Amino acid sequence: MQPFMNSPENYHILESLDSLVQSISENQKEFFQKVSEIRDNHYTLVKSYYEESRRLIEMLKETAFLCSLMFNIQDEKSICASAINILRKLLENPVAIRILSTSNSHTKLEILAEESSAAFSIKSLCTKSPLSCIAIKTCRPIIHSPLESAVPCPEMMESPEQYAHICFPLIADGVAFGCINILFEHDTDIMLLKRNIDLINILAGYVSLAIHNNRLIKTVKKEALTDKLTGLPNRRFGMEALQNEINRSKRYGHVFSIAMVDIDHFKLVNDNHGHTEGDKVLTLMADLARKCLRNVDLVARFGGEEFLIILPETDIDKACVVVERFCRIFNEASLSDVLNAKNLTLSGGIAQFPHDGGDVLSLLKAADERLYLAKNSGRNRIVAGKLN
Ligand code: GH3
Ligand code: MG
Ligand code: MG
Repeated sequence: MQPFMNSPENYHILESLDSLVQSISENQKEFFQKVSEIRDNHYTLVKSYYEESRRLIEMLKETAFLCSLMFNIQDEKSICASAINILRKLLENPVAIRILSTSNSHTKLEILAEESSAAFSIKSLCTKSPLSCIAIKTCRPIIHSPLESAVPCPEMMESPEQYAHICFPLIADGVAFGCINILFEHDTDIMLLKRNIDLINILAGYVSLAIHNNRLIKTVKKEALTDKLTGLPNRRFGMEALQNEINRSKRYGHVFSIAMVDIDHFKLVNDNHGHTEGDKVLTLMADLARKCLRNVDLVARFGGEEFLIILPETDIDKACVVVERFCRIFNEASLSDVLNAKNLTLSGGIAQFPHDGGDVLSLLKAADERLYLAKNSGRNRIVAGKLN
């Protein structure tokens, strides 16, 4: 190997080498700095991802817990009020949160629950027609910011104010029966709206189920207590109502009366005019009872052609007047063109609480015995005491 000569050329080479080493070391420093920055960014990203995941899990747990409580609530307005409370925790500064349901006739949307800021005053928004609600029509959620696209809903378009909004359909058995509608200031960041969208979707599912469940239970309960042909309360309901009236009257020391009313020779109506005509007579009887008696009175179909009437705060003399008038109206209606079977009459027995019986069975027995007397003494009459 040749010795290194201290010549100008070599000095120049040394200088270049030195500057090269310096530049490499600077690049290396910069490189490590970049690596460190990337590591820091990565750490921040992982941390925020982890925090966001934890936040979502916590909110999911809380939402699921609060939602499960909805199934213990018996009326749908309270279910919706509770859902709005949960939504308030999930959302930042909504202008209005409303839960709407299609009306019975399916022509309008009715507000089940609502919470809005003082500035929000447009009551008619989203209440006109379920057919114009895109979320209900498509069974899909809508997320809309007026800054990004045109307003998708016709009623929103009519609004003097512009709102960002999210709208979730309430769906049961594959049919949308309402929606959760949430309005925000028009310049709300759409990413913020999307942040909790999955949670709100879960909530909408729970609300749908809870409301649907509640409606089913109500329908089943109502059907179990209603007579199908006449729409009147049935025997079971009548017995419960009688027990309630006894309890109430006992507490206040009041009297009330009951009547057992039975159509005379009803079998002949079926035999001579057919079962359909018989059904028409029963329906007419129920309609007249609804029209002629006070709202506080109760008429129940107790058996085939036998009806129980409960007359609160009414002594036996007044009850006689009321029931006799009802029998007359029924007879007159049967003489008109309404029925083929003509000149139908009623017999009835009346009993007063507590004089004729202090409990359900003894009171019914007293009224029944008097009905029996009315039948045996020629029908077409009301018996309110022992016949001489
Ligand atoms: P009474 O004057 O002694 O009460 O004689 P009645 O013929 O009215 O009484 P009865 O108990 O002999 O007959 C009652 C009839 O009511 C027999 C039954 O077929 C009929 N009935 C019971 N439920 C219905 C119903 O839902 N529709 C119709 N069309 N008939 C019914
Ligand atoms: Mg009869
Ligand atoms: Mg009978």
